[in-house]
Amino acid sequence: MARKIEPDCRQCRREGRKLFLKGERCTTKKCAMERRPVVPGQHGASRKKVTEYGLQLREKQKAKRMYGILEKQFRKYYEEAVRMKGVTGDNMLSLIERRLDNVVYRMGIGASRAECRQIVNHGQICVNGKTVSIASYIVKAGDVISIKENKRELQMFKDLKGMRLVTPKWVEFDPETLTGKVLSNPQREDIDSDIKEQLIVEFYSR
Ligand code: SF4
Repeated sequence: MARKIEPDCRQCRREGRKLFLKGERCTTKKCAMERRPVVPGQHGASRKKVTEYGLQLREKQKAKRMYGILEKQFRKYYEEAVRMKGVTGDNMLSLIERRLDNVVYRMGIGASRAECRQIVNHGQICVNGKTVSIASYIVKAGDVISIKENKRELQMFKDLKGMRLVTPKWVEFDPETLTGKVLSNPQREDIDSDIKEQLIVEFYSR
């Protein structure tokens, strides 16, 4: 199975911004973007000139890395977004946001998307009462997301109790019952990210 091999912090340095790939560490002084915010490599700090193509490529790479998606699948989201009604860039972001691993992250169940992907892959999440262990599963408005009954005693889930989790308005999660809901499909304005999706669409439609 294909997988990314570039270290997380190096990916942030390459994109010139925090991608929040390592959970709590990302908000501490240990974050590599706090200590050494330059492009990796011998000439990293001196690279300045960026072409239009370069801008589009970097935006695509940034989004892929942020969500932890490989190229083949990322392109599939674009192709599906083109087939949908509406604005391609908005459709694409909405599809990616509705991946089960991202929804678990947005609900505050794990500290990073990578951790949430692992939670899903380990079969600890149910959608509408049935175990779903596919991180790329696309949820829809009205779906109920819960921690599997026999996994609720795991320390990481017990630790959620009593916490005040901040969620975007299109999802909700109750840490007491360990159950949440997708309230609506996310619109562009609901997605808190500085991704310039139009550049990604331009990259793929070249
Ligand atoms: Fe990126 Fe987090 Fe590493 Fe900071 S600590 S560079 S935000 S992955």
